Amino acid sequence: MRDASNPPPDPNQKCPDWGFATRAVHAGEAPDPATGASAPNLVMSTTFTMDEPAGFSINAFEDETPYIYTRWGNPTVAMLERKLAALEGAEDCVAFASGMAATAALLLATLKPGDHLLISDVNYAGTAELAKHGLPQGISTTAVDSADPASVAAAMKPETRLIWIETPANPTLKITDIAAVAAIAKRSGALLAVDSTFATPVATRPIEFGADFVVHSLTKYLGGHGDALGGAVLGRADRLAPLRNDALVHFGGCISPFNAWLIARGVATLPIRMRAHAAGAQRVAEFLDEHPAVGRVNYPGLAAHPQHDVARRQMANFSGMLSFQAEGGEALARRMAQELEVVHFAVSLGHHRSLVYWIETDALMASSFQLSGRQLASYREFAGDGVFRLSVGLEDADDICADLDRVLGAPAK
Ligand code: PLP
Repeated sequence: MRDASNPPPDPNQKCPDWGFATRAVHAGEAPDPATGASAPNLVMSTTFTMDEPAGFSINAFEDETPYIYTRWGNPTVAMLERKLAALEGAEDCVAFASGMAATAALLLATLKPGDHLLISDVNYAGTAELAKHGLPQGISTTAVDSADPASVAAAMKPETRLIWIETPANPTLKITDIAAVAAIAKRSGALLAVDSTFATPVATRPIEFGADFVVHSLTKYLGGHGDALGGAVLGRADRLAPLRNDALVHFGGCISPFNAWLIARGVATLPIRMRAHAAGAQRVAEFLDEHPAVGRVNYPGLAAHPQHDVARRQMANFSGMLSFQAEGGEALARRMAQELEVVHFAVSLGHHRSLVYWIETDALMASSFQLSGRQLASYREFAGDGVFRLSVGLEDADDICADLDRVLGAPAK
């Protein structure tokens, strides 16, 4: 059992002097004092022996209580949380079983009946569905074009407790100006949460732009290899306390220590992976932009992207995600599923393997977004009748382009 009176040295204390890549490798970790092991220990134990009885409810335990039960806290999970906090410049981090577990925990722990949630009109479909249909009765939700700060300001209500944005947004790659929306939130006493899954802390650290919470699906770039689900919420320790004590412990969406260990190993190479993802995506975006069978290409690194200037201001790396419209729509998607060799036709993103998926506009509107009027028109500008979402992996960009070209160039059936 960890000796609470003599905790292990906190490697984060050195972090202010370390560069980002050094923090990615070392933050949160330290060689095991007992064995000298250099790699972090994987502690799979669900329970921890105690020197004396300590109660049976999370409410009975003090902050410095040693590890009791892995749903309440685990050394390997704590290592991942410290590493992520060091990269985002956050005071604290709570890890969850998935990005959706993190999202649900934050929404359910922050919003009470009578509160109003303002949310981007385009974001991960699961988040949109939860915000619109899954929250307790008495919480109202408005979807707004968060890329237009004037629309956000106009949609604020006295009871707006939380603004939720996702930038870049899935799947249109729309960019929201975090600082502009943070200023609106602060003026009204609301909190701002940013789903920064597409950006990663290599590109953008939302807290530096005034956000109160950062949310990640760790399943994507942070883990980076498509083999572990995870999620995280980062922010001030006092604001995260209800998430750790209530949402994590009582809703139970805790991350497996094995997944935390895999994700921490992925995070160590995040800076070099993101450089390669962005370089590959820029090359593929330019290739698609020139391709005769391809319509609009959405990539924040293209000068033609409508929020390219905002992206340049708040993204140090344009990441590896792009979407594009192409002749053939669903028939082309079928050909991709059957004929692509390098790029896998599959959902998810941010892995070392390239992934492409077809997202049909009417189906997405019916199941998730339910946009109308100007918001629907804006969505169609980016996505037309459907959009191919491409997560550019770490293969040679020439091979990705050749794979896509072979299928895009094939005659329509
Ligand atoms: N946020 C974004 C931007 C996503 O793309 C996703 C999943 O695709 C999620 C959150 C949910 O993450 P998870 O699949 O880990 O629950």
